[in-house]
Amino acid sequence: MTQNTHTNHTSDTTKLDVMVIGAGVAGLYQLHRMREMGMSVRAYEAGSGVGGTWYWNRYPGCRFDSQAEIYQYWFSEELYKSWQPSERFPAQPETEKWMNYVADNLDLKKDIQFNTRIKSAHYNENTDRWLVTTDDGEKIDTQFLIACCGMLSAPLVNRFPGQSSFKGEIHHTGLWPKEGVDLKGKKVAVIGTGATGIQVIQTIAPDVGSMKIFVRTPEYVIPMKNPKYTKEIWAEWGDKFHDLKKRVKETFAGFDYDFEAPPWNDLNKEERTEILEKHWNDGSLSLWLATFPEIFFEEDASQEVSEFVRKKMRARLNNDPKLCDLLIPKDYGFGTHRVPLENKYLEVYLQDNVEAVNCREAGIEEIVPDGIKTTDGKIHEVDVIILAVGFDAGSGALSRIDIRGRKGQSLKEQWQNEIKTAMGLQVHGYPNLFTTGAPLAPSAALCNMTTCLQHQVDWISGCIDYAIKHGKQVIEASQEFEDDWVRHHDEVANKTLVVKTDSWYMGSNVDGKPRRLLSYIGGVGNYHKKCDELAKNGYPGFLMS
Ligand code: NAP
Repeated sequence: MTQNTHTNHTSDTTKLDVMVIGAGVAGLYQLHRMREMGMSVRAYEAGSGVGGTWYWNRYPGCRFDSQAEIYQYWFSEELYKSWQPSERFPAQPETEKWMNYVADNLDLKKDIQFNTRIKSAHYNENTDRWLVTTDDGEKIDTQFLIACCGMLSAPLVNRFPGQSSFKGEIHHTGLWPKEGVDLKGKKVAVIGTGATGIQVIQTIAPDVGSMKIFVRTPEYVIPMKNPKYTKEIWAEWGDKFHDLKKRVKETFAGFDYDFEAPPWNDLNKEERTEILEKHWNDGSLSLWLATFPEIFFEEDASQEVSEFVRKKMRARLNNDPKLCDLLIPKDYGFGTHRVPLENKYLEVYLQDNVEAVNCREAGIEEIVPDGIKTTDGKIHEVDVIILAVGFDAGSGALSRIDIRGRKGQSLKEQWQNEIKTAMGLQVHGYPNLFTTGAPLAPSAALCNMTTCLQHQVDWISGCIDYAIKHGKQVIEASQEFEDDWVRHHDEVANKTLVVKTDSWYMGSNVDGKPRRLLSYIGGVGNYHKKCDELAKNGYPGFLMS
């Protein structure tokens, strides 16, 4: 352990105590924590700036669905209070600015290598260290490797045959060009109506010449309420800093709200509807994450709440039977997919220059030079194609790196058979590799990301600190601990209706991906308690030598 903040270069290898991959929400904080601990640490980031999700996703309308007062770092009250969000749900440019503000405030950028993608990471069992290589040939020899690669950061770019033949512009939302894309007056196609597609569609609708929206699976949607935040309002949130910091660690999904309604069966339908109306009017995700937990477990509850939302959606579509059939979910229950917040999204379909293409009747066959060919033989001619088709979530970012642990075992190959982790923090067989935003921890699907990522960073930092103080060099989750966690994870997940629904939550958006709920659904508060318990008891299950 070199125990200093200087990078140690030999002729062609950079030697570190800790290497962090990624400079997003988790990576920045992890770098900060490791520097505080006096480790020689460096972060490597594929983008040219900090931000992670907020660097790559610059598509029109990108914003978060967690309120600004809780999409925050909690390690510095001063930092919290001195930032001024402009509204309740700020858009991407503001969040990217905020992340730069944090990075500059802590002077983190000097220890981040930008424009560098990690190609491989191989564990050397003789030295108990990782040898990492970058796309420009740099080699890094590090004791600890902490992957802060993001849960939704491996965009499904090559989704359709013939993409390269298209004469116009084609962009995935997760790789949106920095200089923007001119859509004014253009014929635009949007493929995908998940949380991303919805934000794009509602934002570009006033500018495009015409728009064809390719809809396969519709989403239940909730209208967002996004008031401006004045200095006075932010000062009030600042006064609640300590309460909020404590609160987000205890709730089901890492938000400040939680399931607080009386049990479903103690109320009659009118009483339940009153509660749903109240949360509907809040214009946040509280309708999903702070009304009735029964919607995740019980068909009757799921049906009733789904119908409550469907009714609202039908009214907005003027009860048009064709649009209602296409855009209102029938085959799965409310909340078993990620619920998007939106702003006049459904009304876009009522515009004369907008056509909804029903991919359930005729799916996309291929991209051709002039546009998109569907299985009914029709060619939809457009100038620009926007791929809002999602990500290889959870496992994708790590599988795109050639990671090899003990005996040369490949993580990618292992996860092609079964996706397993030890609480999303380590994988057995990959010593001294820690992960944030990884499968089987509460994450994007069921957690306010800043809450979960910071918690994981804190836990990882505490674990490494403990090992160092006890003279240990190697930390590895035992097979038994990992198996127990996977069993518990599945037991909790399999009681819910989420596992019966297809979406990226279950990995079903990627051909051949083994099916398992990617996020832990036992609650953020419970996960925190379990992690704290481990730390208090000297990390049983995480073997140290
Ligand atoms: P997504 O939820 O996976 O949605 C992808 C969309 O593309 C789906 O509608 C999917 O339809 C469609 N699609 C994929 N392949 C298709 C094909 N061959 N033909 C027709 N349609 C196809 O991805 P996303 O919208 O990028 O969202 C991913 C996650 O990112 C969200 O769930 C959320 O967690 C996060 N996110 C958050 C925010 C926010 O905070 N506000 C905003 C954006 C994203 P099928 O379902 O039928 O496959």
